[in-house]
Amino acid sequence: MIKIPLSQIIEKIREKSGLSEEEINSKIKQKTEQLSGLVSQEGAAHIIANELGIKLLEESHGKLQIKNILAGMRDVETVGKVQQISQITDFQRQDGSAGQVANMVIADETGSIRVVMWGAQTGILKDLKENDTVKITAGYTRENNNRTEIHLNEKSNVEINPEGETLGEVKEYSSARKKISELKENDNDVELLGTILQVFEPRFFEVCPQCNKRVRQRDDGFFCEKHNIVSPEYSYVLNAIIDDSSETIRAVFFRKQVEDLLEMDQQKILEYRNSPERFEEVKNDLLGNIIKIIGRTNKNELFDRLEFVTRLVFPKPDPKEEIERLKKESGTHETQDDATPGKTEDVPESSSVPQEEESKVTEETISEQGAEEPSKKLPGYEDL
Ligand SMILES: [Zn+2]
Repeated sequence: MIKIPLSQIIEKIREKSGLSEEEINSKIKQKTEQLSGLVSQEGAAHIIANELGIKLLEESHGKLQIKNILAGMRDVETVGKVQQISQITDFQRQDGSAGQVANMVIADETGSIRVVMWGAQTGILKDLKENDTVKITAGYTRENNNRTEIHLNEKSNVEINPEGETLGEVKEYSSARKKISELKENDNDVELLGTILQVFEPRFFEVCPQCNKRVRQRDDGFFCEKHNIVSPEYSYVLNAIIDDSSETIRAVFFRKQVEDLLEMDQQKILEYRNSPERFEEVKNDLLGNIIKIIGRTNKNELFDRLEFVTRLVFPKPDPKEEIERLKKESGTHETQDDATPGKTEDVPESSSVPQEEESKVTEETISEQGAEEPSKKLPGYEDL
């Protein structure tokens, strides 16, 4: 079943019937009361559209603009400009076989959408760059975290920079804002806005200069599983407790994110390795700051708690912009968690997917190692 957001149904009814939004809302209210709460607002809006003879879904053949792509569609065709590309993540399906998944975000003049590539479809990544235009055909859509995603399987096709397809200025991608209390396991690409309540000292660890993976110290030097004995570089991780008044959560910042949070370069941060006492001042400066972070949740099995792994850090969000955004979102955000539980029937790989979107696979490796060997392997996790 294709899921149309309530705001879009109302808009469509308004367009076709000439009724005002207010009138439509009161009809919806009447209808839900009439049906003694047995129908959702969306359901009531569908019934009203039906009664007025308004077709909510046009027969959509051919190319769709991104704002018109809805969850539950098949055979989706669209064109967008590539905004972000992830790395390919290997995972194991429930039957033990190996799978691969990668994703990208594409945008057109009307919106942006995440595109998830399964299996052989990840092969296009080697030819793909940011700002390429892609034409997708025969994709299907699903809902994830209240957002629609396009998925590509072996029947789907992606054309890179097809002739005759041009796009104007595209809409930038924005993540879904959540409250900390609303976070769930496997939430991905979520945005939090909160106050820094506590900051822990950064932990430093050796990585391979070629592949950025963590190296192990042996008698003969630092050993990378791929590159043997290497002369290591240092990476770092920092944890902070973030409070957004709904709850608090531990946020984990890795190298690039630490640099963005502290607004310092690598050289400066490495100075704290030998003189951690000098970090006190930095810590004090950070406490009470409001930050915006985008990332995903991670279940720390060792401590049995949910953590937030940051991918993007905005150390000084514009408060006006945030308030405007909150206002806007509270007007249109009609979530419906209980909707259509059976909608994924033809998506074989979906149930066993691990973290889909990982731009920093090396860092993931670190946090996973940490779960196994808490004592030394995972800097920053042991300080509670
Ligand atoms: Zn290496």
